[in-house]
Amino acid sequence: MGLAQPHTDPFTVALPGQRQALILFGSPGSGKGTQSKYLVERLGIPQISTGDMLREHIQIGDPIGVKVRELMRAGSLVSDELVNTLVEERLRDHDTDKGFILDGYPRTLHQAESMTALLDRLGIAPLVIHLVVDYTVIIARISGRRQCPVCGTLFNATSKPPKVDGVCDLDGSALVIREDDRESVVRERLDSYEKNTRPLLDFFRRAGRRMVEIDASELKPDEVFQKVLEQVQAQ
Ligand code: AMP
Repeated sequence: MGLAQPHTDPFTVALPGQRQALILFGSPGSGKGTQSKYLVERLGIPQISTGDMLREHIQIGDPIGVKVRELMRAGSLVSDELVNTLVEERLRDHDTDKGFILDGYPRTLHQAESMTALLDRLGIAPLVIHLVVDYTVIIARISGRRQCPVCGTLFNATSKPPKVDGVCDLDGSALVIREDDRESVVRERLDSYEKNTRPLLDFFRRAGRRMVEIDASELKPDEVFQKVLEQVQAQ
């Protein structure tokens, strides 16, 4: 960002209830990132991916990046306080005034409580979109996953191959395996999902949050997106 923004509180500027919040929920490899990118294109609202934000800090090598690097490499979660702050600060940016897509957040009960309090304060009723995918499909998917280190686009050997093997379609960079996509780390991330994140489904249900479930195991990304869009438009 170039010029400093005036310190007005956007929360008091946006009319309550007008901002659309979509929470993409599902295990690692369930397609949250891909669906978020489709939604960004279709709805014109930004994706807020805590994973991407943390990876940016690692790339820059700032104190946050240094702090989270080893945890992320091991597939462990970083602290709730850190991601809660990152998201809260990100929601002050004006590109989120019409709405936003949360991808990979919240991931723990504490994060869900913090997010709920924040969105309630903003008068926003989020829609939780739960992408359900079998673990066998997930392991196969993640092990074929490659990412562009420059623009962040994800490719997959089977479901979304790049036009030229190992090269990003968008900017020609050499694709890489994300450090936390290695198989032992993927298992750790799935364990963490079971232990910390899946229980949030009950939390959302008990809190009476709007929630839809999409069975995404057998479908291609664009077919999943049709279902996601139908649900978003039905709300
Ligand atoms: P993702 O790209 O969403 O799969 O996230 C990659 C890694 O970033 C995770 O395995 C965690 O180490 C960290 N991370 C991302 N989002 C969160 C979050 N909401 N809470 C804690 N750690 C997170």
